[in-house]
Amino acid sequence: MSPLALDRPSTGRTETETRNAIHNEGILLSRRPAGTGTGRRMTRDGQHLLGEGYSGNYPLLQVLFLAAEYLSVRGDAFMLTILTFAGGLIAGSFLNTCIYRLPRGESILVPPSYCPQCRHRLHPLDLIPLVGFLLLKGKCRYCRQPISRRYPLVELLMGLLTVALYYHREPGTLLSALVATGVVIVAACTDMEHGIIPDGLVLPTLFAGVVYSFFSPLTSPGSSIAGIFLGGGSLLVIAFLSGGGMGGGDIKLMAALGAWLGCRLLLMVLFFSFLLGGIGGIWLLLLKIKERRDSVAFAPYIAVADFLTLLGEKFICNYSWLFC
Ligand SMILES: [Zn+2]
Repeated sequence: MSPLALDRPSTGRTETETRNAIHNEGILLSRRPAGTGTGRRMTRDGQHLLGEGYSGNYPLLQVLFLAAEYLSVRGDAFMLTILTFAGGLIAGSFLNTCIYRLPRGESILVPPSYCPQCRHRLHPLDLIPLVGFLLLKGKCRYCRQPISRRYPLVELLMGLLTVALYYHREPGTLLSALVATGVVIVAACTDMEHGIIPDGLVLPTLFAGVVYSFFSPLTSPGSSIAGIFLGGGSLLVIAFLSGGGMGGGDIKLMAALGAWLGCRLLLMVLFFSFLLGGIGGIWLLLLKIKERRDSVAFAPYIAVADFLTLLGEKFICNYSWLFC
């Protein structure tokens, strides 16, 4: 039975029967819109379902969501994990495009993927995340120049984080968590490679975050706006006090995260960024990798702080009165 066959009567299982099957397997049957918080459907072994509240008609996403729903009903946790990992790898591949093109002011949609060395359009096999790199043994099919290891690493990181977030977060808050994760990965890479965080990344993310806050279960429009001012404002104060020690890109990145995560989660991200940035800075000085006047990319610290917050929120809340 194909994943697509789930909702078709011709398979012998009507939607009502499918719902009954879900119910019998101990899954809450609520069809509330994504993210009302209480609409999470769980199987007995704790697997939660993708696709809750999904109402789009984008064919590829529909196939992915239906496949996830089918696997959940079957209780096939292994295949569901593989599917989530594959979705994360595809997202990671898109992040790589952003990392390469945004600092150069290029469009992320056109032209189709090409080799940065010889600019030859890539073969469809080379586009398969992770697998393409392994098949090519890390070299371009056409010019044989080495492909940056950043490509498979970003894909693998996003794949693993997608699986971790899928199992750690409420389904309704998953989109916000994935956007916040994707944007910090791109920002960390462009900051380390070029010393900039492109406006083409952070400004659209910030505005999209404000719009999404009207529908998001994680934030309200008020919390989103407060997050922007808290995130951007606190780094702006540090930039002012340190005489330019904090870049404009970092300020806008933190504001964009505030728009997607809201005030409370942003407070955790700020706390961990300063903690990790402080430890990292002292470490770099002690090992004499950096001098006191050298500028240090701060976005990687924001990225790790973001991962810690999104994955460890419940754990942190159990041990800290400050955030909860
Ligand atoms: Zn090439």
